Amino acid sequence: MSEVFHKAGWVMMSPLVWLRRGVVGIKKGLITYVGPYKASQHKKVWDHGPGVIMPALVNAHTHLGLCMLKGKIDTGRGFLEWVKDLVFKRGLFSRSETEEALRKGVKETLDTGTGLVAEVGDLEPSRSVLEASALDTILFQEVLGHNPEPNFILAQKGKITLSLAGHALHTTSPQTLMALKELTRKAQRPFSIHLAESFLETEFLLTGKGEWAELLEARGIDFSLLGPFGQRPIDRALSLDLLDSRTIAVHLLDVTEKDVEILAKTRTKVVICPRSNLALHGKLPDIHLFLKYGIEPAIGTDSLASCPTLNMFNEMAFVAKNFPNISPQLIFNMATRNGAIALGRNDMGTMAKGNLAKLIYVHVEENKSEDVMRRILAGENMNIKRVDAEFSPTQ
Ligand SMILES: [Zn+2]
Repeated sequence: MSEVFHKAGWVMMSPLVWLRRGVVGIKKGLITYVGPYKASQHKKVWDHGPGVIMPALVNAHTHLGLCMLKGKIDTGRGFLEWVKDLVFKRGLFSRSETEEALRKGVKETLDTGTGLVAEVGDLEPSRSVLEASALDTILFQEVLGHNPEPNFILAQKGKITLSLAGHALHTTSPQTLMALKELTRKAQRPFSIHLAESFLETEFLLTGKGEWAELLEARGIDFSLLGPFGQRPIDRALSLDLLDSRTIAVHLLDVTEKDVEILAKTRTKVVICPRSNLALHGKLPDIHLFLKYGIEPAIGTDSLASCPTLNMFNEMAFVAKNFPNISPQLIFNMATRNGAIALGRNDMGTMAKGNLAKLIYVHVEENKSEDVMRRILAGENMNIKRVDAEFSPTQ
């Protein structure tokens, strides 16, 4: 396969590095060249148009295995009611219905410009569906309850990298979480956990009481193994040795300044899901507090059970609208580079020679890179396509 060049009005290598009338060379799925376009040098050129060629987006937290619940769960009745409804309704779907919805979710993800996802949930049918798709995936098999000796083989199969997630501190026992983290540590994989998502979680971990304890009691679940109680979520995660640069802590809605300091010191990767957070908790993550401690979050959509779309451009637009003081460059970083780094995929999220050629073209007509970003973050009528090596050159 020979080298093919892709040209556009703009090439965004990273949100801080833009090329006007740039060109990207691709061979065997890898980036071989990024630089200015020179008609004499670049044969086999595909001219995409006046818009921007940029790295495909990274959805750093989602549950594609819950796509069948799209529009089926009311998020307006509070987190506890949402949990109850989700647990009940997810059991109502057959394997083929779950698989069909998952396929649709993967298509929506790809069609809206995402190239890499952190999928959290059951191994199947996610693995089979994602393996057959063009998405790059880290599939975190999620564990709840008490299983002190979890036995997982973390193989790399095709595009899919397998890893593990503990669901959360208020649903998964400390022994299990430590064992899962240890397995991922040995395999040098990222570990994911929902952390400090709600006041209910904090209250439960501090006291062993409250509405979360009542919910577990009502379901006949013996939650003594989730103790001992008396610590806030971040302190607890720290004392269980769960926090390091390969841990992805998701949500972090109920955090203090001291908590964020701990996250920064341990170099824990922070992933936020603002649309899901607002829908379920009526609250947004404190991005400015993370930035104060030098933490640049990545973003994810969470599942279709709590978020209306899997479109990461929608998530970016939502951040732009709700955090007007955050720069467009930072929002683009959140949806590209930061997610790739959190997932240990330094070959994606930015454009450099040798990186995977997972690129998209977004059609906008603007003369300044700032305006390109602003137009995209305004989220209107986005025309997105994938830039693949298979495109046939026009000249
Ligand atoms: Zn989640």
